[in-house]
Amino acid sequence: MQQNISTYDFAGKKAIARVDFNVPLNEKFEITDDTRMRAAVPTMKKVLEKGGALILMSHLGRPKGVTEKFSLKHIIPHLEELLGQSVKFADDCQAADEQVAALQMGEVLVLENLRFYAEEEGKPRGLAEDATDEEKKAAKAAVKESQKKFVEKLASYADCYINDAFGTAHRAHGSTALIAKYFPNDKMFGYIMEGEIKAIDKVVKTPEHPVTAIIGGSKISSKIGIIEHLFDAVDNMIIGGGMVYTFKKALGGKIGNSICEDDQMELALETMKKAEAKGVKLYLSSEVVIADAFSNDANTKICSNMEIPDGWEGVDAAPSSLAVWEEVLMNSKTILWNGPVGVFEIPAFAKGTNKIAELLAKATENGAFTLVGGGDSVAAVTQMGFANKVSYVSTGGGAMLEYLEGIELPGIKAIRE
Ligand code: AMP
Repeated sequence: MQQNISTYDFAGKKAIARVDFNVPLNEKFEITDDTRMRAAVPTMKKVLEKGGALILMSHLGRPKGVTEKFSLKHIIPHLEELLGQSVKFADDCQAADEQVAALQMGEVLVLENLRFYAEEEGKPRGLAEDATDEEKKAAKAAVKESQKKFVEKLASYADCYINDAFGTAHRAHGSTALIAKYFPNDKMFGYIMEGEIKAIDKVVKTPEHPVTAIIGGSKISSKIGIIEHLFDAVDNMIIGGGMVYTFKKALGGKIGNSICEDDQMELALETMKKAEAKGVKLYLSSEVVIADAFSNDANTKICSNMEIPDGWEGVDAAPSSLAVWEEVLMNSKTILWNGPVGVFEIPAFAKGTNKIAELLAKATENGAFTLVGGGDSVAAVTQMGFANKVSYVSTGGGAMLEYLEGIELPGIKAIRE
């Protein structure tokens, strides 16, 4: 049975928590963005304040074995600062029995990077490039077999399990999903997971209408699953960014050198029909900012996005489109934003994306529930100083996208079932 972190009795218990301490580090192993660590503080404090001991497990980077660069020991000093207490470290997540046994209530022990072991992800490593299918199959079976022991060892350390790593909730890894079954009556979400699930459900399951989704980014192929799933939840859908040109070309427009997925044009037309059938108003801009080069000092002008000249490409949303979208957004009670509406990494083409961030803050002030997710959109609201002015900023890019597509995430399922 699933427990609730707010009411669970941690007194005298050892809690093992899967957190997401996969933070960026510079060459001196200094943390350059500690957002993920800070976000986990409420969950960690809860266990400690309620009289429990805390064992933390996470991955860091994509090591293919034990790698000094990816050791979680680098994050210990900062974790000590965040928690205001000393933190112990076990340099092998599979050999921490003695340290776990010695752990006192109120103390914290961090296990070394789980991905030093292939068993965490359950994928074989070191296979020769010319390995036969038979060899691949055997290697996979072997790692699955040893994965069971790996997970059992982690589970043996604790009395209860907390999953607070939303960023990896879409992965059926040892620490994110498989471990949960060893705690049938003592498993729960941490506060990050709770918050993420609540925020996304507020958009797709129990929204206040009108609901508007702004979906941007470069490729329709990577967003089509979300777009179509969202048709069941939204009243309006604004499509922006590079995706637009596949639609416009499919409609017979001239798109110059704009980004386009020719093999997705059929799908784009079908998507438009589906929107109509579901009563969703689709906003594909009619004007865009075009540029004669992919650089900050390119010449730019405003153009109909059905008539982009050769040698020019669409790079940002035009003021006329933003004005239409503004009206839609100001009349919405629930707004979801994923993906930039222009090449926002180039400052000259970031105006549209920054304007969306501003409009979301304004809509929030007017009482709308606003959810922002996906690396680029989160970066835009943060850079603009609006992260605290929208209702919720999702920390899990891939996990959020899969959840929005209606996929039951393994990390969520494992706690609930
Ligand atoms: P995605 O990873 O699919 O969410 O797409 C994000 C990327 O889309 C960002 O790197 C943007 O620069 C890019 N993007 C947005 N608008 C355009 C555009 N008009 N042309 C090319 N790339 C774009």
